[in-house]
Amino acid sequence: MFNKASIERGFGRSYFFRSYVAEEKKYWGIEKDEIKIPDKSVNGYKTEESYANLAQDGVINREVEVQAGDVIVGKVSPLRFFGPVESFMSETENRRETSEMIRYGEEGIVDNVIVTETINGNKLIKINVRTERVPELGDKFTSRHGQKGVISLIVPEEDMPFTEDGIIPDIIVNPHAIPSRMTIGQLLEIIAAKVSAMVGVRLDASAFNSDEAVSEESLRKALKSIGFRDDAKEAMYNGVTGEKLEGRILMGPCYYQKLHHMVANKIQARARGPVTLLTKQPTAGRAKQGGLRLGEMEKDCLIAHGASLLLKERFGSDRYSIPVCRQCGLAAVEDHVKGKKYCPVCKKSKITDVEMSYAFKLMLDELKCMGIYPRINPDE
Ligand SMILES: [Zn+2]
Repeated sequence: MFNKASIERGFGRSYFFRSYVAEEKKYWGIEKDEIKIPDKSVNGYKTEESYANLAQDGVINREVEVQAGDVIVGKVSPLRFFGPVESFMSETENRRETSEMIRYGEEGIVDNVIVTETINGNKLIKINVRTERVPELGDKFTSRHGQKGVISLIVPEEDMPFTEDGIIPDIIVNPHAIPSRMTIGQLLEIIAAKVSAMVGVRLDASAFNSDEAVSEESLRKALKSIGFRDDAKEAMYNGVTGEKLEGRILMGPCYYQKLHHMVANKIQARARGPVTLLTKQPTAGRAKQGGLRLGEMEKDCLIAHGASLLLKERFGSDRYSIPVCRQCGLAAVEDHVKGKKYCPVCKKSKITDVEMSYAFKLMLDELKCMGIYPRINPDE
């Protein structure tokens, strides 16, 4: 649990950097990329607004606020296929948009722009984008003893427990984390740091150090001398009711680090969205706005819950309908021009539309490729 006021004072803040790279590549012949603000006639031109942040040279300036999808380096490339049709196009129509954009779901401020060259002598632009990260629910932190964990609650300061001196903690850790992991070092760090902070002495507790100042006996004595219990525990009061808490609580300074796993990098949700070309099933992964898989075990949960009809909805991400010949059981053909459905194999027109997943239709096609005759009998 984190103290909300501590967070607002700047506790646990960090900067997240992402770098973007754009290279002005040279291709076979005289073809090459061009880093500039694209012309309207370029293939895949976005909107005028998308290029508004770019300077004259097609590269964004420092300290500009950017959002997902914003162009940071304008770039046009030659078309991949240069056939007879394309050769009749004008110089600009023959190019496509390949600008560098801010990643989906991210935003920030352009921190640094570097214009340089690659080993091959190509123009190279490197851009760093910075985002300030304030601790939020689910962000991961750790002490130096491997006691890692995520923020589960952010508590308003007035609701936090406090000591007789009015000290309010920044972090509250569940003590069940201690016995199983046996991180006694963290308890010693807290005790020694408390002595250090209250007495005003530096203590060196590095390994193999036999310094008398960090022995159990002298730590206990020092705590006693400044009016604490010798085990460094204190009485605390409930911040909501003001009642004294029954147990004594160990409190003291402890060094914490923020870990790279942050909710802001992982948060994802999707309704319908992009699908893969081959299977027509939702894409995988957050970067591609992927779907969230409802797997076998989740399926079992729904069945056990008596909500099996919901599966028909959840497992229909690639639902598809094909005409099937009732004679031979193969996929038939629908002629949209004549408005007719017929079987190309037996020329009959006894056709039934069958709903199936596209992945299954794909399997039927693959079986046919291998010389296996998959027959659908729609009457059953
Ligand atoms: Zn047929």
